[in-house]
Formats: sequence, structure tokens, C-alpha cells
Amino acid sequence: MTLEDIVAVADSAAPGSPAAVSFHLKRTDRAQPALDALFDVLGDDPSISEVDLVIDGKRVGTLSKEALFGLVEDRTMKIGDGVQAALPGDPAPSFIRLHCPAPNCAQRAIVSPDLYANPPICSLHHCAMVADEGR
Ligand SMILES: [Zn+2]
Repeated sequence: MTLEDIVAVADSAAPGSPAAVSFHLKRTDRAQPALDALFDVLGDDPSISEVDLVIDGKRVGTLSKEALFGLVEDRTMKIGDGVQAALPGDPAPSFIRLHCPAPNCAQRAIVSPDLYANPPICSLHHCAMVADEGR
């Protein structure tokens, strides 16, 4: 699994309005922590059906819950996948959940830890997103 595999199932032609939740990562991020974070968001929250995928500051497409789940169903385990997951001393960086500080704004973002220093801007309020409580 690479980031390209995730990008490949995102719909770059998805029309119009951006999803309320954007997912920000860097081209150099590892795929597995990103995938875990995507599952956290799309798998656990029934109110979220899609996220905008943003890589290196550029929106590359909209990733739907169906596309994400399909990606994993299609996946065949390669030699080394399981071993890598079990390596000690290399905890996966956890992605950080952000929200717009404006009252009642539904815009949210999930960012790669390295991008936290430069948080995304709310497209509606043009203010920097802030971390959720107890992230
Ligand atoms: Zn906002």
C-alpha cells in the first residue's frame, strides 16, 4: 500500500463543493498511518461520507467511504506488510483532528503531524483551524 494507491481511488473529478472534512498529508507520508486515520474518520463517524484528499497543499480528489473500503477489500497481503506493522520502536505518527474555531462551523480537517505547524485554513471563515480537545 502506498499513498498512490489511496490517491488512485479518490475521485479527482468530483464536482463542486468541497467536502466538509479535508484530509491533509505530505507526499512523503507513509500510507499505513494515513489509512488508519482515514478509517478513523470515515469508518467511525456516520455523518461523514467523504473527505477531500489534500497532498502537499493541493486537493487531489474526493475520497468516499465506499472507495476507501473497496481499496482495503481489494488488497492482497504482501510479504513484509505484517512484519512492518509489528516493528517495535517506530510508533506510527498519529494524525491530528482540527476544526474551525468559528461558532457552528462544520469545516474540519485531519492533518499529518508534520503539517500541524501550518494548519489548514477554513474555506468559509479564512481562519486557521485549531486542534480538537483531547486529540
Ligand atoms: Zn469555518
